[in-house]
Amino acid sequence: MKVQKNIALVAHDHKKAELMEWIKIHKDELVQHKLFATGTTGVKIEKELGIEVYKYKSGPIGGDQQIGAAIVGQKIDILFFFWDPLASQPHDPDVKALLRVAALWDTIVACNRSSADFIIKSSLIDKEYKRNLTSINKYTKERQLEN
Ligand code: PGA
Repeated sequence: MKVQKNIALVAHDHKKAELMEWIKIHKDELVQHKLFATGTTGVKIEKELGIEVYKYKSGPIGGDQQIGAAIVGQKIDILFFFWDPLASQPHDPDVKALLRVAALWDTIVACNRSSADFIIKSSLIDKEYKRNLTSINKYTKERQLEN
């Protein structure tokens, strides 16, 4: 991971206001990095906070999967994912898949505000960092696959 991180921001509907409030507080830190978001979250960030973000599709129509694919391509370093533990989602399998690939590819993930606070304030946020891909490297080596 480079000094400037690629950060994905996603919030389920009942969590969008909380994410917007959090982004507002940390706007100065966040704009130092490249920002990505699922569709509706991204539109809200741009409209309400005037921050430019790259917008994937809306989560329920595949945006979570697009972010997952970007993680596999090592194009996303940090995922702030304010998912809603009190509501079932039509795209629940996608949510699960996103969290799975994020864990597998040693992506930095915050699923709630306190974790997000700790990550954004980390002294590592603006340093180069080598992610731990040991399990992926072992997997690909065993099968003689290209990385
Ligand atoms: P949205 O998607 O930003 O388009 O609402 C979020 C999600 O449900 O993953």
